[in-house]
Amino acid sequence: MDTTNNQALELSAVLKVLGSKRRIKLAADALSVEPQVLYDFLVANDVDLSDLNLTVTDRARYGFQHWEDSGTSLVAAAAEIGTTRTVLGSTLNRLGLYLSGKRTRTGPEDIERAVTDVTQYIMTKGGSIPDALRSLGLSISEATVRNRLREKDIDLAPYFYAYRRYNDWLVLPGMPQYKYENDKLLRCRCLRCGKEFDVLYNNLASGKSKCCINCASNCNRAVRVLETGENYSSMRSAASATLVSYTALRTGLAENDECSVDGFTFQLAA
Ligand SMILES: [Zn+2]
Repeated sequence: MDTTNNQALELSAVLKVLGSKRRIKLAADALSVEPQVLYDFLVANDVDLSDLNLTVTDRARYGFQHWEDSGTSLVAAAAEIGTTRTVLGSTLNRLGLYLSGKRTRTGPEDIERAVTDVTQYIMTKGGSIPDALRSLGLSISEATVRNRLREKDIDLAPYFYAYRRYNDWLVLPGMPQYKYENDKLLRCRCLRCGKEFDVLYNNLASGKSKCCINCASNCNRAVRVLETGENYSSMRSAASATLVSYTALRTGLAENDECSVDGFTFQLAA
């Protein structure tokens, strides 16, 4: 940091100028210093930059060298400036900058932050620890994360299959049940009727089961439209003939044998 240059700056005057100008460059021009010098001055004086309403582009451009020097990851840098990893990544990309995120030593804070990020990621999106580390762009080792999770008594195994979508099945968090030799049961929600069932993984993955047995049989039952007196061999053909939404019809007939959609009354055949 160039101290001779910084001595020319006075904190209150700098903050006053920044209060009226959102762009670092404009404020720096007004103060007759280089933008990077102004930014470094703010950081050196512990100014809370989030109060200044600076643009993401400015914070990316002038914060870059600090992050790079301290080995800050893209995720951590994004969190620091209150944006997402995607936005910061594309902003840096536009500026021709690339954050390597390489730190010589991984400190306890880095581990703690990584474990928190991985936990949150897996609990909301499902998947494995290596998947989460890759998606989050974290260079910390899987073993380190696992050890810390064990210490904290956090078990992410029930989320491994969670939130996967197989046709109209959504896998719910929970441990698979190994009742069969070559397959496992996963707790799933049928998205047509909202009810929960245990479904064999092989049937989900192969597409043999697309929804619960009630919904599957309803979909193939004949449907009568009361207003027109017409009969259709399935919900899909009834929906396309009357131009109503198939999803709306399917949902309507999931619980009851009769429902109204868009002025038509649909009745499942007995
Ligand atoms: Zn169902």
